[in-house]
Amino acid sequence: MRTRIAPSPTGFLHLGTARTALFSWAFARHFGGDFILRIEDTDVARSSQEAVDQIIAALRWLQLDIDEGPFFQMQRIERYREVIDQMLAAGTAYHCYCSSEELEAMREAQRARGEKPRYDGRWRPEPGKALPSVPPGVPPVVRFRNPQGGVVTWDDLVKGPISISNQELDDLVIARADGTPTYNFCVVVDDWDMQISHVVRGDDHVNNTPRQINILRALLGDSGAPLPVYGHVPMILGPDGDKLSKRHGAVSVTQYEDEGYLPEAMLNYLARLGWSHGDAEIFSREQLLAWFDGTHLSKSPAQWDPAKLSWVNAHYLKAMADVPLAALVAQQLRRRGIDVPVDERLSRLCALFKDRCGTTVELADWIGMYFVEVSASDDDMTAFVTDAVKPAVATLRGKLGEVEWTRAAIAAAIKATLGEHGLKMPQLAQAVRVLMCGRSQTPSLDAVLELFTREQVLARLRGA
Ligand code: GLU
Repeated sequence: MRTRIAPSPTGFLHLGTARTALFSWAFARHFGGDFILRIEDTDVARSSQEAVDQIIAALRWLQLDIDEGPFFQMQRIERYREVIDQMLAAGTAYHCYCSSEELEAMREAQRARGEKPRYDGRWRPEPGKALPSVPPGVPPVVRFRNPQGGVVTWDDLVKGPISISNQELDDLVIARADGTPTYNFCVVVDDWDMQISHVVRGDDHVNNTPRQINILRALLGDSGAPLPVYGHVPMILGPDGDKLSKRHGAVSVTQYEDEGYLPEAMLNYLARLGWSHGDAEIFSREQLLAWFDGTHLSKSPAQWDPAKLSWVNAHYLKAMADVPLAALVAQQLRRRGIDVPVDERLSRLCALFKDRCGTTVELADWIGMYFVEVSASDDDMTAFVTDAVKPAVATLRGKLGEVEWTRAAIAAAIKATLGEHGLKMPQLAQAVRVLMCGRSQTPSLDAVLELFTREQVLARLRGA
């Protein structure tokens, strides 16, 4: 069992590609096989090292560990040339000297006759056929000699049996006039050389598959070697039913990392886009690997659901141990210019606030107030820090200047203050929250206060 992911480094790792990578990886791992990374960088103008780095970083973040690669197609050009020469020699490929004007005229004529435009095979060698004379000084393209009759059939892992008539497929260009090999050809040579047994990819490639199978068959000859199993997973659609795009928010994996999602949550959520195991929604990496055997892949497109992703992420956030969570929150705070030590206090802050957060960004929104000044809105000040409550806040401040700095002692000081001023808890607590935290709702006040320093509390309550 050998699977691969073959992204083009023309941008970040798109969510659709990440999901395909996840399926391919889990599929290989389930059967104890290998997962291979191949970078399809033949579009030199649009490919970049930065994109390669990002793809690798995103796979690493999701912990989709690769066994071989990255292999780069641009480093394999010699190998493609070698195969093309072999095909020319074997007669499974041939030179075509048509100019682009000639091809355009051919298509025009076909359209005028109401036919589908296609290469008419004028340079295709046939027994007893006289080929046109080679025009001087014209570098030829190389075309694949596609079989003329019959159908190409494969049993798609996702879509079931698919048959395409060879009449639909014309003689594909496999090397351009400047000698560069074309996409469908390179993929075949790569999958062959890398001994890929299962090709899982987006269903935008369904039309390429019969061409690739024909080329591969030509290369395999009568060696009896098996073809890979192909599985084409449907696209991921945006919440509005259109193809997932930037319009729907983030479409790169790394952006979700930046926005405070956890890799375990992302992995879990992505796995459920187009695959299921009974009605399991939350499952571990180990469960995924135990279950993912290439069945239960959905034939219909999956829909991106940001609310569900947040729900899944919140689940993992709650379940995560506080010490590693503190490290992630420190990273988020650092990005805002707030440098904090990853210490016990930060872990306790995570424990206190994580239940109410969907992402580490939201968690950093809460915890930031322990490290930078906050300011309450005028409305909150007017509504909660009233003249009726101010004397009680001053009393509490006095007591907090002296008590032992423990949650129990702070709770006792609050209680005593309420008794002395004849106030109810919410009246005092909301005023203190607005002054301390810049908002009127927080977890339990004594727990919130304990994690500030005494100096911070005395300074912020002076504002009453
Ligand atoms: N480079 C192709 C893509 O990103 C991969 C095609 C394949 O998996 O065969 O869509």
